[in-house]
Formats: sequence, C-alpha cells, structure tokens
Amino acid sequence: MRVLVTGGAGYIGSVASRMLAGEGHEVLVLDNLAKGHRRAVADLDLEVADLEDPSALSGVCSRFGPEACMHFAADSLVGESMADPLKYFRSNVAGSINLAAALVESGCRDMVFSSTAAVYGDAETVPITETHPKRPVNFYGLTKYMFEQALCALDRAGQLRCVCLRYFNAAGADTAADLGEDHHPETHLIPRVIAAALGSEPRAEVFGTDYPTTDGTCVRDYVHVLDLARAHVLACEHLQETGGSGIFNLGNGSGFSVRQVIETVRRVSGRNFEVVEGPRREGDPPALVASSDKIRDELGWRPEHPELESIVSSAWEWHSRHPNGYDS
Ligand code: UDP
Repeated sequence: MRVLVTGGAGYIGSVASRMLAGEGHEVLVLDNLAKGHRRAVADLDLEVADLEDPSALSGVCSRFGPEACMHFAADSLVGESMADPLKYFRSNVAGSINLAAALVESGCRDMVFSSTAAVYGDAETVPITETHPKRPVNFYGLTKYMFEQALCALDRAGQLRCVCLRYFNAAGADTAADLGEDHHPETHLIPRVIAAALGSEPRAEVFGTDYPTTDGTCVRDYVHVLDLARAHVLACEHLQETGGSGIFNLGNGSGFSVRQVIETVRRVSGRNFEVVEGPRREGDPPALVASSDKIRDELGWRPEHPELESIVSSAWEWHSRHPNGYDS
C-alpha cells in the first residue's frame, strides 16, 4: 500500500509509520513539525506541511497518489482546547476537511482517523461501548466528534471510506525502534511519574483523591502504543479489502487508578520518589474504560501487550534512555 501518514512524526504516528514501512508499505509522512520530531522519522520520507494549507495538501496528494491515509495530525490538549477553541476548530476540523478534500480530489478513498474516548464525555456506563452517548465535555473531544461526523457524510456520499479509532489512553514505547513519548509540555500521567522517578521532576502529583472509584483516584484504560499502531494497520488493510467504514474503541478493557500507575512505576524503576496529592484537574471524568469487543470481533485486533507492567516497562526504558526526549 502507498500510505500518507499525517502527524507521522508524532508519538503514535511515528510508531505506526515505522510499522507500515517495516511491513513493506510505501510511506510518506506529512507533519508540520510543530509537535512532531524529525528524528522520529529520520529513515522515512517526510513532507513538512500544514493541514491548514489546502494547496500544499493537494500538491502532496497529487504527487504521492496515496491509496490510503492514516490521519494522526491534531491538537490534543484538553485544557488548551477550552482556552482557545478556535485553534481546535481550525486544526482538528477545518484542517481535517482540507485533508479529506485533497484525498478525494487525488482519488484516495480510504482513511483511518485517530479519534478519542473524549467523544463520550462522562461515562454513563462502564465499560464504554461505541453506542454510548456522545456528549464531549471538552472542545478537543467535540472537534474530533465533528470530524467523525463529516467522515460519516463522506462515506454516505460514496467519497471516502473511513475507520475511526477512538483511543483510550495511549502509553508505552516502541523500544525496538527507539520511539517514545516526547511532548512539550508533558501532561500525561505515565511520563510525568517517570520524570519524578528519574529525578527530572521534583515529585509526582495525583490530581484528585475524592473520585467515586476504589481508591479515590481516576481510573483509565492504558493501551500500548504498539497495539494502537497494529490496529491502524489492520484498519487500513480492512478498508483496502473494501471492508467498509466503521467506528471502533481501542482499549484494553481493564482500568487502572492513578495510584496503581504510580505503584507500577515504583516497582518497574526500583526508585522511590515523592508523591503529592492535589486537587482534581478540571474536566477529568472519574473512570474511562473501553469495551473493545467490536474491534476484536470485526477486525480481529487483540492487544499483544495488555499488562500495565509491560506498558510502563517500555516507557521506563525509553525515558531512561532519552531523559530529554528526542533531543537526548
Ligand atoms: N494525572 C495525575 N497526575 C498527573 C497527570 C495526570 O493524577 O501528573 C491523572 C489525570 O487527572 C487523569 C489520569 O491521570 O485522571 C490520566 O491522565 P492523562 O493526562 O495521562 O490522560 P487523560 O485521561 O487525561 O487523557
């Protein structure tokens, strides 16, 4: 397959790009490098372009002629989306529409879209299935849901088939390819706790201890980045085999609390570090755990690294080797 990977220099996109290339597919990474890292795609073809530049997108699509597109490029910080919604409408909605238009114009018919569990908002039932009500509580989730709906319209019009993958919490690293998480600022739990274990942050922080969960801290479903990347490859193959559009959750189906994650980092790293308990972070639902039955049944996806211990171990290995991320 000839696959265009937007956001392919980012965390999940770089792992998926490497997996595709390793399996003999022709890959072109498109990234504006605002958050992505050139070093993460050093051995792949890279086109530096922005989704908000429709003529650049048309040029790339007509030159490369993709048979499928994996669309990872997005703004994804919940807090920022609440403070600057226009930025999120421009990048995640308008930018994605520009991309869809360029793909359709160039004759590409298949897209795998990175969506999010944030489309659901507060969980009414756990585990969450794909039919759970969609009531995003932040503008990041709203913009992802809006583009999902645009894709459903394009599918109905016979212009673009699409698999939307609603991720729960992406975590871990591809230690064989030496690819991992490197965000500025880093907001995610596992890398922040690891930074405390490495001594690059003074302490780890627990955001809220009064949630209605077993130990009072938030519960999340952590999925290994290699398992996420595998799901994208399966989804792409499914579309190319004209399997039809679909929307799927991607999670492990088991939840871990913030305290359990901190304990796992302590065990895996063998380091002790200070932990402070603080107030809740605005917009955090108490528990988000996926039902991934649909993607198991329809695409045959199974997580190969479901244990929190192996997810945290791979992240620990990557961050220990790269304490300053790709600049290390
Ligand atoms: N969290 C925390 N301390 C941190 C970072 C995150 O307690 O330093 C909590 C956060 O409130 C949430 C969970 O860890 O309940 C997972 O947060 P993350 O940002 O990794 O992912 P999210 O679920 O927000 O996408």
